[in-house]
Amino acid sequence: MNKGLLTFPKGGVHPPESKELTEHLPVEAVPVPSQVDILLTQHFGAPCEPVVKKKDQVAEGDRIGDVEAGLGASVHASVSGKVKNIGFAAHPITVRAPCITIETDTEAPPRKFEPCEWSSLSKEGLLAKIKKAGIVGIGGAGFPTHVKLSPPPEAKVDTLIINGAECEPYLTTDHRLMLEHAEEIIEGAKIILTILGIKQAHIGIEVNKADAIEAMMEAVSKASLNGFDVKVAPLKVKYPQGSEKQLIQSITGRKVPGFGLPFDVGVIVQNAGTTKAIYDAVVLDKPLYEKVITVSGKGIKRPANLLVRIGTRVSDIVSFLGGINEDLAKVVLGGPMMGFAVPSLDVPVIKTTSGILFLTQDEIDTSPHGQCIRCGWCLEACPMGLSPNEIGIYVEGGQAENTAQFGVFECFECGCCAYVCPAKRPLVQFIRLAKMKAKKSM
Ligand code: SF4
Ligand code: SF4
Repeated sequence: MNKGLLTFPKGGVHPPESKELTEHLPVEAVPVPSQVDILLTQHFGAPCEPVVKKKDQVAEGDRIGDVEAGLGASVHASVSGKVKNIGFAAHPITVRAPCITIETDTEAPPRKFEPCEWSSLSKEGLLAKIKKAGIVGIGGAGFPTHVKLSPPPEAKVDTLIINGAECEPYLTTDHRLMLEHAEEIIEGAKIILTILGIKQAHIGIEVNKADAIEAMMEAVSKASLNGFDVKVAPLKVKYPQGSEKQLIQSITGRKVPGFGLPFDVGVIVQNAGTTKAIYDAVVLDKPLYEKVITVSGKGIKRPANLLVRIGTRVSDIVSFLGGINEDLAKVVLGGPMMGFAVPSLDVPVIKTTSGILFLTQDEIDTSPHGQCIRCGWCLEACPMGLSPNEIGIYVEGGQAENTAQFGVFECFECGCCAYVCPAKRPLVQFIRLAKMKAKKSM
C-alpha cells in the first residue's frame, strides 16, 4: 500500500499504530468542569503574567494572562466564573507552574461566535487576530503562531505545508478534525497563504487515514480557492513522518539544515489542528480555550476523541469516561513515542496536549536496560543521522557535556533510536540529560 508514496529518505520506524481504539469515534464535548486550572506556561517563550485578580468575575474567552514583552501567547478563561486562586498547579512537563484557577459559574450561558468575512483584512490585521486569540502550535512545542507566520523577509517562503500526518501511535485528533472540519481547515490554509503572500499549499496526510485524505480532497475541490494552489499529499506510513524536517523533505525534497528552520528552505509548516484554530481566531474571533484530544489506551474504560476546555484536569476526564482499568500501568500526555509520563491525574490539559494515554502493562516495555552491544540499529533508525549510541555511552561515562560532537542538539527526541534498541537503552532520557549538561557547560 505504501509503495511509491512520499516519504523521507533516512531512518524512521514502524511502531504498532494502535489507532483502532478511537479513529472511528466522532469528537464529543466533555461537560464544563466545576473548575479549571489555566497554566500560565502553555507555550514556547516567556510565561504569562495574570491580568486578573483573585475573586474577579471572568467570562468564557476573556483574556486572563498575557506576555508583556518578548515571545509568548496570551491565555484565556475557558469557562465563565470567579477567579478562585492565583498560585501554582501541576504542569504536564515542568511538574509545577504558575496558574489561574477559575471556579465555574454553571448557570452562565455558553458564549456564541458569529462568522465574519476576513478576505478584506490586511496581513497585519489577520496576524493581530491570531495573536489576540493566543494561538500556538498545538501539535508541537507551542510556538506562538503569529511569530511563526512572520518569517524574516530574506526567508523567501514559497510553500505552506499543513501537517495532517499524525504519525504518533494512538493519536487520532487531527484525523477526526480533518474528517469533521475539512472546510474550516482549508479556509484556515487560505488565511495562512494570504498572510504569507504565497499561493502553494500541500496537506500532508499518512495513507492510514484514507477517509481523511478523501474528505480533504473533496473539501479542496469544493472550496473557492481564488487562485490558491492547494493539494493533498498522501504520505507513506512511517514514524516520524509528522516531524517538520522530515515532512518537508517528504513533500518538497528540500532538506532543512541540522540547526536550520523550515523557512530556511522556503517552507512554513502548520499542524492541521492549529490551522483550524487559526480559522476560529480569524473567522469567529474565538480565542484558543478548548481543543480536541484523544484519550486512549487499554487502561481507560472508554477511549474517546474529546473536545475539552483547556485547564480541565485529567481526573475530570477520567470520571467522564467511566474510570480507569485495574491493570493501568502508566499515564502519558501526548503519544507513546514523544509524550511525557505524568505522576498525577491533577495535571490540567494545556494548549499543546494532543492526547492522554492510559497504558497497561502489556502496552509498555518495562524490562531493564543493558549495555550497548554496538549493533548500530539506532544509527539506522535515526532520521537525523545522529549517533545516539555514543551519546548514551558518554552520559553513562560522566561525559554528557561532550556529546555535541554526536549531534545531541540536533536531536528532536523522536524516540526512534530507543524504539529499535535491543538492549532497551533509555536513549531519549540520556539525550535529554546530555542536552541539559552540555548547555550548562557552554
Ligand atoms: S531521538 Fe534523537 S537521536 Fe534518537 S532517533 Fe530521534 S533524532 Fe535521532
Ligand atoms: S541500538 Fe542500542 S545496543 Fe544497538 S548500538 Fe544503538 S544503543 Fe547500542
